[in-house]
Amino acid sequence: MTNTFEQVRGQLDAIRVIDTHEHLPPYENRRDRTVDVLGEYLSHYMSSDLVAAGLTLETLDKACRVETPIKERWLLLEPYWNWCRHTGYGRALDRTVKGLYGIDGIHGHTIEVLNQAFLQTRDAPGHFRHVLRERCNIEMALLDAWCDQSHFDPELFRPVWHPTAFVTGAHHGSTTMLQWIREHHGINAVDLDGWLQAFVMELEGNLTKGTVALKNAMAYERTLYYDHQVTHTTAQNLFADAVRVLQLHSPSDLPQFCFPKPLQDYLMHKILQECNDRGLVMQVHTGLQEGNGNYIHHSDPALLSNLLLRYPNVHFDLFHIGYPYQNTVSALAKNFPNVTIDLCWAHIISPAALRAALADYLDAVPYNKIMAFGGDYLFIDAVYGHLEMAKDNIASVLTEKIELGVFDFAEALHIAEHMFYGNPKRVFGLDMKSPGITC
Ligand SMILES: [Zn+2]
Repeated sequence: MTNTFEQVRGQLDAIRVIDTHEHLPPYENRRDRTVDVLGEYLSHYMSSDLVAAGLTLETLDKACRVETPIKERWLLLEPYWNWCRHTGYGRALDRTVKGLYGIDGIHGHTIEVLNQAFLQTRDAPGHFRHVLRERCNIEMALLDAWCDQSHFDPELFRPVWHPTAFVTGAHHGSTTMLQWIREHHGINAVDLDGWLQAFVMELEGNLTKGTVALKNAMAYERTLYYDHQVTHTTAQNLFADAVRVLQLHSPSDLPQFCFPKPLQDYLMHKILQECNDRGLVMQVHTGLQEGNGNYIHHSDPALLSNLLLRYPNVHFDLFHIGYPYQNTVSALAKNFPNVTIDLCWAHIISPAALRAALADYLDAVPYNKIMAFGGDYLFIDAVYGHLEMAKDNIASVLTEKIELGVFDFAEALHIAEHMFYGNPKRVFGLDMKSPGITC
């Protein structure tokens, strides 16, 4: 490591951070206090690498059951963990336990002492603030709680809302969306106009409560291409057919119910027209889907091109560098004023890919369009390890540019400040004091 790297890296800790994407519990006291360190740390990411390495889902489940002594459960995982230890996910967890608990990595000889330390912080009030504020210098995190964005700790979070059910028609728990709309908005949404009226009411309500962006995570279930040529008549007919099906069956008869693709496409365009009128931000999942087994081509960010063109007042914040489509993301952000690049999750998907992509972005894209960090974790501890890796990645790329003579040390820090703080604050219109003010 060069002297320049160490100087840049040292300065990054002083920069305040706006974390663009988390899935943490909305309040610390909503944390699951029945799990131990393996149950929590294997709730996602590392578990996906372990399964990719060959661990069965049955063994993974056994490894998380607290009734069995943790040392015995560790033995089920150990060979797989060692194969995954050097991936971004493995390194993020080792960095986490080193930084938060002073423990030298997750191993057979450290797992028991780590679990003791973990259980102490799990039950200690103030751990969320300790990690986010004191250890990470995160001033605010955008919280993606999937469905419930109305309750959140306003000191730490601002909510993001998924309008997904208004596009797909998927059930809201054990009720159909038609029932849910009737209960929440008093509308019998059995025609398209009623359905869209309910969407607008829900949107306005969420914006009043502090929602700072909408989220599209549909690349987990369908392609990101939303055809703009579906006619109103076709959509009306498909909607009427869907309503007939919903009225004849209970949600438990049709647990996987969703609208046909042409109707989803039509509704997405209608929703984006409303967002366009209001100048809202939509965060979009692009690239790798978390978990094991999916259709990667569904998530190609190039599929969004017609939306980017048709809704210039919607700000599209493209997530995860679109990995493995990171070059496409670069081209889109270079080409479209309404596209930004969000590095959330990407620092640990592949640190090497992130560094190469960021070196390209800084050469190709104005730096007011790059957002440096979103932990994208379900559990608090690893936000710390992820941010440490993000700072390493960013310091490494900035150092490379300084050494190439692209900019000097002071400008590197100026760019870092924009990426970690100024850009997300501006794009999401954040008011740190009042969660009721929106973009
Ligand atoms: Zn996420």
